[in-house]
Amino acid sequence: MKIKTKFFSRGVHIDDKKSLSSGSPIRELSAPPAVEIALSQHIGKAAVPVVAVGDVVDRGQLIAEADGAVSANVHASISGKVVAIEKRPLPRGGSCDCVVIEGDGSDRVRTLPPLGELTRESVIGRIREAGIVGMGGAGFPTAVKLSPRTPVDTLIVNGAECEPYLTCDYRLMIEKTDELVRGIRLLALALGVERIIVAIEKNKPDAIAKFDAVQGMAVAELRKRYPMGSEKHLIYACTGRKVAPGKLPADVGVVVQNVATAFAVYEAVELGMPLTSRVVTVSGEAIQVPANLRARIGTSFRTLLDECGGESDDASVYIDGGPMMGATLLSTDYSTRKTDSGILVLTPRQASISAPTACIHCGRCAEVCPMHLLPMDIDFYTLAEDYAAARDRGGALNCIECGSCAYVCPANRALVQSIQMCKKKLREVKS
Ligand code: SF4
Ligand code: SF4
Repeated sequence: MKIKTKFFSRGVHIDDKKSLSSGSPIRELSAPPAVEIALSQHIGKAAVPVVAVGDVVDRGQLIAEADGAVSANVHASISGKVVAIEKRPLPRGGSCDCVVIEGDGSDRVRTLPPLGELTRESVIGRIREAGIVGMGGAGFPTAVKLSPRTPVDTLIVNGAECEPYLTCDYRLMIEKTDELVRGIRLLALALGVERIIVAIEKNKPDAIAKFDAVQGMAVAELRKRYPMGSEKHLIYACTGRKVAPGKLPADVGVVVQNVATAFAVYEAVELGMPLTSRVVTVSGEAIQVPANLRARIGTSFRTLLDECGGESDDASVYIDGGPMMGATLLSTDYSTRKTDSGILVLTPRQASISAPTACIHCGRCAEVCPMHLLPMDIDFYTLAEDYAAARDRGGALNCIECGSCAYVCPANRALVQSIQMCKKKLREVKS
């Protein structure tokens, strides 16, 4: 059943570039010879290792335990021997401890025991045990999100996938519909809600048709507009409810979960498999054969690129994630994490990098900002190191870092980086 949706007027229209990889069925990669598994691949504290160098592990075995409420377990994604636990760089900057496992080729699996009776508590407990985090990008531990402090009545499943190029969620929706439906019902059970809305942008008509045929779930057919997949805009489009600045979706009775997360929940509860792999879109005009790969967590980016025939000679910019909210990579020497939905390689033409010039006060950034902020003011005050003014006059803390402002800026101002810097400085002052 389709429901009527609301529309937000701001944001931007972008060529979605999805045709590069949307026709590529999910290809399951075999276990790589080695993996490098980050212990911090979620919001909150890094997990604490429970294995030591020299230990032999199975796929699915716990290798690091959540440290506190906002943290997540981490499991081995291949069987083999732990050869190092040491700091390695992260694709979005900084570094963290990683468990390096050399595979033994057997791919032994250690699953979690059958769950028995499915109750709210047992499903949330299994999700926590399996190390499941939001796989749409943020990496918030799912068990925490399923235990809101205020009552909720609606689960929205985010299948918008509004970032250009990315098609991993789309492929899951059309290839793994039954598994997703089971995962979604488990999420609804964990939340104690009956109202389920699966939200999908109009540019995925076959995915919409698949979920439209499912009993007990409504489908929100969303107008194609970036950033439709942002939680606050999705909630407004699906329910008409507005999440005020500084508030959470649960404050308006809603929890949003990504489709990849629902799939991980299905595997953890029904198959006893912790989160040890994910679907990654490898795409961009400089990738020889764009594809959707199901890869083990900790697989090197280089392996994923080579699986797609490598890059063309004019490969110029590498991105972790989508082009709007992703991060430019300094090298390909990183490994896949639970939140990595895509790796893009663009040519100079697509990347269109030009040096920034002075702001011409055209106001276009403010016109498109879906959060009704003043990006040019935030940029101005941040450069002047007046972070309080950037917060109070520009609204820096309400920025969702969608990149719409930078996308339309004729002066190529690095607005998102400026806002990120401002938020970082404000956090430092607070802590
Ligand atoms: S200021 Fe933030 S929320 Fe507004 S358009 Fe720019 S990145 Fe998006
Ligand atoms: S879009 Fe760019 S040039 Fe125009 S006001 Fe915003 S920052 Fe300045």
